[in-house]
Amino acid sequence: MTRTELVESLIERYPAVPAEAVVKEDLLRTGIAFDDSALSDNLDGSVKPKSYFIFSFDQRPLAELGEAAKRRPPEEIALSGGPYGLRRTIVSVRVNPASPWRVVGGELALEGRAIAEIELPPMPAYYRHTLANGKTVMETAPTIQWGYLIYLTVLRLCQYFGAKEECQFCDINHNWRQHKRAGRPYTGIKPVEDVLEALAIIAEHDDGASHAYTLTGGSVTSTVDGLAEADFYGRYAQAIEERFPGKWIGKVVAQALPRREVQRYKDYGIQIYHPNYEVWEPYLFRIICPGKERYVGREEWHRRILDAAEVFGPRYVIPNFVAGVEMAQPFGFATVEEAIASTVEGLDFFMSRAITPRFTTWCPEPTTPLGRDNPEGAPLEYHVRLLEAYRETLERHGLQPPPGYGKPGAGNAVFSVSSFMDVLAPEVVPV
Ligand code: SF4
Repeated sequence: MTRTELVESLIERYPAVPAEAVVKEDLLRTGIAFDDSALSDNLDGSVKPKSYFIFSFDQRPLAELGEAAKRRPPEEIALSGGPYGLRRTIVSVRVNPASPWRVVGGELALEGRAIAEIELPPMPAYYRHTLANGKTVMETAPTIQWGYLIYLTVLRLCQYFGAKEECQFCDINHNWRQHKRAGRPYTGIKPVEDVLEALAIIAEHDDGASHAYTLTGGSVTSTVDGLAEADFYGRYAQAIEERFPGKWIGKVVAQALPRREVQRYKDYGIQIYHPNYEVWEPYLFRIICPGKERYVGREEWHRRILDAAEVFGPRYVIPNFVAGVEMAQPFGFATVEEAIASTVEGLDFFMSRAITPRFTTWCPEPTTPLGRDNPEGAPLEYHVRLLEAYRETLERHGLQPPPGYGKPGAGNAVFSVSSFMDVLAPEVVPV
């Protein structure tokens, strides 16, 4: 079956999932090849370049990306029109020179046939400014989701280190090394003052486009700058909220911490907490997340998620999972059926307690154990059925789309690393 046949058969078989989401999931799991004409001129052109905001999210190492390593691809693309009549759909860019999907000029093609018109993100005015010390806003405080979210990876390394601790799908530590090797500016620990200065530039120039910031980075198992995890990430929130009170929705992506430390995040001004559980199935969690298992343990991780709901309110605890890793071989489920059943069990566990997980679509990065062994990622049918199941489970539990993601629905959604917002009913307006 060609890729076109696969995509079209799934659009036909799963009418509850919009065509926009089927195309978007395939782009996210497979990556996109870029004609030189569709690359950016880095910070000197009119297109917003890919910032490498945390992981590489590429399906080849930087050294093998050819021209795309010298002239960065765009951060995201917006699709519309084409033979499926797509409504505007925003997709995060993952580069794969061998992908059947290719951007040439203003068009996205699949196996040579035009599928959508492409809008590239314009260079934001704030990327044209630098900090007083010469650092760029793109490196210090990049924005994604078409400018909605400021992504503050303030710690570019994870203290879960090496094969026995790193999550098996994650290339954060490798990505740090490859950017350093390429001589790119890539700050291990971002000074609080730099972050504040970059945010001031964004606030001045973005015409209100940004609505939220995410504080994140690797797990801190000992200390960084003498601070344990809650105080390390919390000090940025504290400084941001002091300087720009309530301007953005503050989010933190971090470990599931004991309740008293979670309370510290709240006290520092964070509104949304993402203690990511990554994969539901017990035996897969132990294999795929050995660091989380070792330092916290699966059951304790989940217990802390529930505790956090009492601190933030259940709607404001939004744990992420990485959709697709449960099908990674040699350990994962052999069938889509089993993988969906397991994932839905996890959704029910949290949603029955009014906690709304969300997911990112797995990108099989080649320097990770799972990506190396599964370069094709998970089957597209898994991703499509997961979207259907996610919406169905959310509605069954009478929940709203999670806050802090903008408007839901195909044509509205800005969340770019999975289609979970694209498949939700458009009429529901989240607070
Ligand atoms: S906790 Fe896991 S996913 Fe998060 S940065 Fe560390 S290794 Fe990566």
